[in-house]
Amino acid sequence: MNNVIEIDEETLQDIVNIETGLLSPLSGFMNQADFKSVIERYTLCDGQVFTIPVTLDISEKLFVEKGESLHLFFHEKHVADMEVEDTYHISDTDIEKIFCTLDMKHPGVRKEKNRSPRRAGGKIRLIDRSFLEDALKPEATRKVFTEKGWETVVGFQTRNPIHKAHEHLQRIGLEVCDGLFINPITGWKKKGDFTQEAVMAAYQKMAAEFYPADSVYIAELKTQMRYAGPREAVFHAIIRRNLGCTHFIIGRDHAGVGGFYGAYDAHELARKLSKQYDLGISLLLLHEPYYCKKCSMVVSEKNCSHYETDRIEISGTIIRKYISEKGIPDEIMLRREIFDAILGCKKIFIE
Ligand SMILES: [Zn+2]
Repeated sequence: MNNVIEIDEETLQDIVNIETGLLSPLSGFMNQADFKSVIERYTLCDGQVFTIPVTLDISEKLFVEKGESLHLFFHEKHVADMEVEDTYHISDTDIEKIFCTLDMKHPGVRKEKNRSPRRAGGKIRLIDRSFLEDALKPEATRKVFTEKGWETVVGFQTRNPIHKAHEHLQRIGLEVCDGLFINPITGWKKKGDFTQEAVMAAYQKMAAEFYPADSVYIAELKTQMRYAGPREAVFHAIIRRNLGCTHFIIGRDHAGVGGFYGAYDAHELARKLSKQYDLGISLLLLHEPYYCKKCSMVVSEKNCSHYETDRIEISGTIIRKYISEKGIPDEIMLRREIFDAILGCKKIFIE
């Protein structure tokens, strides 16, 4: 067979996500015109908002022409075919436009620089349908939301068990919407992170004992993190729109990493694009909640006037530190019921 290339797991996941409609309106890997349009204007050539390039890297040596088929193999298995529309090269300037930096300390930049700069665009066809079995499918989540009778659904992304700051954000979401869709991204986790078991146990407890019956749905989403900050926040919203959400919460430094983006840069881009285009989803741009000693409750700088010295920060990182050091986080950060649910898990942290 000619035109055979070996792909990695993340490329395969992109193909699966294109096939299910998770990355709609994409029907393949981006050609040069769409790639350029996305990085320069945040839209595909047809004017639909799309903020993250989804591309296939190919070797410089591969000889392939427009209209030919590329056969994509994963672990020596023929998994997909692509009809080639064009091949092109991406530059450092392009990478800088995606991540707002070329610093090799940025994991997204590092990953992009390690790929071949040559890309091929074209429609993709998944041949091995077995990869669809445990994929999160828009038709399935939309069906769940309809069956629950939810007309409005707010999406929430997390990788941590629920703590009081996230609870604050989710209750704002539930005040506005009929249902809350907890949608943890997997494939992002590193050593020391909470296991999926711990995240699920915490949310099951929360749903059973605190949130109204049948107001929460939890399902995992498999996609790679690009750590592209503001661009990725809007990309995450587009994915949730495709899954059937009407609203999506974007908090502080969404999809950011290591201080490369300003705390509310993602809000700024989301606001700009929402004004200019119909994204098909409403974005709840929420400020970081903290516990205020003077207000005696979880608040944010949008609704509390007190000084930084009155604030107690609440975050997944802090909760993780307490639990890994055998401490008990204060109830102003983490509910005792949730703490017990986490402690009841076989494995709490990724080893
Ligand atoms: Zn206050």
